[in-house]
Amino acid sequence: MIEAMLDLAIAGAQKTWATYQYLSKTHEAWTNLDGEMPKVTRSFQKVRQELCEIGLLAKGVWLDQIELYVAVLPSMGEAGYVFDDSVPWWGRSVGFEPGMIYLPSDLPFAAYVPGGTMADVIRHEFAHSWRWLDPCFFEEDWFVRAFGSTYLDHEYCGKEVWEERFFGRRVNIDALERCKSTEARVRLISQGFDQEFVSHYGSTSTCEDFAETFRHFLRYRNSLDRFKPRKGLYKKLKAVERAVHVTQRNIGL
Ligand SMILES: [Zn+2]
Repeated sequence: MIEAMLDLAIAGAQKTWATYQYLSKTHEAWTNLDGEMPKVTRSFQKVRQELCEIGLLAKGVWLDQIELYVAVLPSMGEAGYVFDDSVPWWGRSVGFEPGMIYLPSDLPFAAYVPGGTMADVIRHEFAHSWRWLDPCFFEEDWFVRAFGSTYLDHEYCGKEVWEERFFGRRVNIDALERCKSTEARVRLISQGFDQEFVSHYGSTSTCEDFAETFRHFLRYRNSLDRFKPRKGLYKKLKAVERAVHVTQRNIGL
C-alpha cells in the first residue's frame, strides 16, 4: 500500500516537473522570438522564391495563399507542421487553420537531417500544404507508383517494405555474409537504405516520404542527376518533378 502511494506521489511529482519544464521552455522561446523572427522571414521568402522558380507560386496564385505562423507552444518533437487533412477540434478552438505552415515557438532545433536548415523545414512543410490545396491530384496513380502507397495510408511504412525487399534478396544476404565486421554490415545496409530514402523520417510513412523528397527536390532542383546512382530516390525525385510540371501547367504558370 505504502509502495503504491509512493509510486503515485513520484509519478505526480514527475508530471509537475515535466509541466514546469515545458512552461519554462515556452517562456524562454517567447523571450528569444523577436531575435529569431528575421531568420524565419528570410527563410520563408527564400523558399517562396524557389516555389516561384518552379511555377507553384506567383502573386495571388496557388501556394501564395499559404502563410507561415509561429505557434505559441514549443516543440514536442516536431520541427514544423501543417494540418493537411483537417484541423482537429482542439486545433480549431485555438485558431489553427488547415494548410498553413506552423513552426513551434522554440524554432526548429532539428531539421530532419544533419545539416538541415530552417529553409529545409519550410520546404518540407510546403509539400504538405501543396497536398492540402490539391488532394485529388495526390490520389492519382502517379503518387502510388512513386511512393508505394496513398498519401494518407498511415499503415504503410516505407522502411518496413524496403527492409523486406532488401533482406529478401539473396545477393544482399551473400554480401552481408561476406562482410568482415559489424561496421561493414551496418555500412552496407545504410547504403541500401540511402538508395531509397532522403532521410529516416521520410521512411516512416508515405506522406513524410513525399514531403522529404519534395524538400530535397526543391533544394537540388537544378542538379537532380547527381542522385542518379540512388535509383529508388532518383525515381521519386523525377516523379515529383513531373508532378510539379503538371501542376504548373494546370494552374497556368
Ligand atoms: Zn511532414
